[in-house]
Amino acid sequence: MSLTDLSSEDLTQLQTEQRAAYDELVAKGLGLDLTRGKPSQAQLDLSNALLALPGEGQTVDAAGTDVRNYGGTQGLPEIREIFAPLINVPVDQLVAGDNSSLAIMHDTIVYSLLKGTASSEQPWGSGPVKFLCPAPGYDRHFALCEQYGIEMIPVDMFDNGPDLDAITRLVADDPQIKGMWVVPTYANPTGAVYTEQVTQALVSMPTAAPDFRIFWDNAYAVHHLSDTETPALDVLGLAAAAGNPDRVFVFASTSKITYAGSGVSFFAGSPANVSWYLGNLAKRTIGPDKVNHLRHARFLQSPDGVRDLMRKHREIIAPKFEQALAILDERLGKYDAATWTHPLGGYFISLDVLDGTATRVVQLAKEAGIVMTGAGSAYPYGKDPRDRNIRIAPTFPLPEEVSAAIEGLSTCVLLAATEKLLAG
Ligand code: PMP
Repeated sequence: MSLTDLSSEDLTQLQTEQRAAYDELVAKGLGLDLTRGKPSQAQLDLSNALLALPGEGQTVDAAGTDVRNYGGTQGLPEIREIFAPLINVPVDQLVAGDNSSLAIMHDTIVYSLLKGTASSEQPWGSGPVKFLCPAPGYDRHFALCEQYGIEMIPVDMFDNGPDLDAITRLVADDPQIKGMWVVPTYANPTGAVYTEQVTQALVSMPTAAPDFRIFWDNAYAVHHLSDTETPALDVLGLAAAAGNPDRVFVFASTSKITYAGSGVSFFAGSPANVSWYLGNLAKRTIGPDKVNHLRHARFLQSPDGVRDLMRKHREIIAPKFEQALAILDERLGKYDAATWTHPLGGYFISLDVLDGTATRVVQLAKEAGIVMTGAGSAYPYGKDPRDRNIRIAPTFPLPEEVSAAIEGLSTCVLLAATEKLLAG
């Protein structure tokens, strides 16, 4: 029974029910927040052993370096050896940095704008710069573009990756398109996983800009929510085999593995890109936080140590996703009033409500004490052309709070939909 098939009497009846449910919701005076994809306290507690590491007298790494001192721009070998297989890059092409991969993305953009990439004839900033932005996508990627005057071109996102036809046509024609954002595994917010076929197309397509770069942000590479533990693709190998070894910048971090904001971040690329990055980095810093590298290496121990820890994260957060999905199904499924993703990993559920109602839904929810990320925030310039997308981040609240919030949100979705349909 689709909402759009209901008679106006039935719609009015449904609206009356949802209005009553909404009034009850407001009366509860909730204070729930489903905005940011943050780990919950129980998840943070999984890594508490870090707080006592490396420990006094334990600050010399395997190569004999005292990590308390300056140096080692590429980062501690121990931590790079643990993460190289997880993100499927060669260890000597991996750089371990400080506490934020977003900061590395920021710097990479700034270096490219001011100095040019390893294959640029001129700095990107000597002319207009455009980026392809699969949308819905990660709002902070788009904020970086906006900050530096990079024009964003939205591209539709599907289950296996973005609209390849549109992308290949655009990059072939326009030399001002210098970059593209990709979250290849469990994309923020849709949970999409880029297939090998899509990846192959992206690394091999002809581009008008010789210095075109894919910003391959593998923030959720090991963040599985099911037994299907999709491994990271060898994107650097695929790019090299396609004759475009320098096309891809890879990023990752432990923000949602250990501590968000106090983890280790990573950059990887072709040998030329790594020496370009390290050359710029060496002007910016005398070395990364190697004490943090060492305590992470001692805590995580091996790639399997990371996999085990991620299964413990899954035990905490997968039930919250299941709960949220079950409530959406029960409250909205029968009306065909919305569609939503069923992610196999990552931190988000992407909800598409009736066209033209997302802003209203978020407003209704806010007035009932349920704070959602602003409608449109997953789109370049904050503009969702269909005003339908809402990002749900279920990891941080307690399970009972997730249920209450999704129940309330469902009421808002139905109320806004009936308002819109009855208004004609
Ligand atoms: N990339 C994506 C896709 C993310 O969702 C996030 C965290 N929300 C980040 C990067 C931020 O990573 P970091 O903490 O390493 O800066």
